[in-house]
Amino acid sequence: MICPQCSRSVPIRSLLTGTNASGVICPHCHASLCPGPLCTILLAVIAFGAGEIALLLLRRAAAPLWMAIVGFVVVAAGVYAIIAPRIIRLRLKDSNQPHLTGRPA
Ligand SMILES: [Zn+2]
Repeated sequence: MICPQCSRSVPIRSLLTGTNASGVICPHCHASLCPGPLCTILLAVIAFGAGEIALLLLRRAAAPLWMAIVGFVVVAAGVYAIIAPRIIRLRLKDSNQPHLTGRPA
């Protein structure tokens, strides 16, 4: 992931260890960033889709339910970690953007 303000690489672990799920702080310029909504949706669809395929294959192979669930989690997390740096495009978080309620932040 590339910071749009300083054009330096932002590690993927910043997304996982951020103070909230929708925000990332650039470790270089400390800009407040967030992933684009379409990138986030696409990433979730691909990761959960891959996890679902693993779940179905394990259930079809008569694996116990706990093993199928573990397979789902491992595959979904692995796919997320592999493709997230390639798919997610960060943008500067706009503090003037209104909340979903329509009121300003
Ligand atoms: Zn930066």
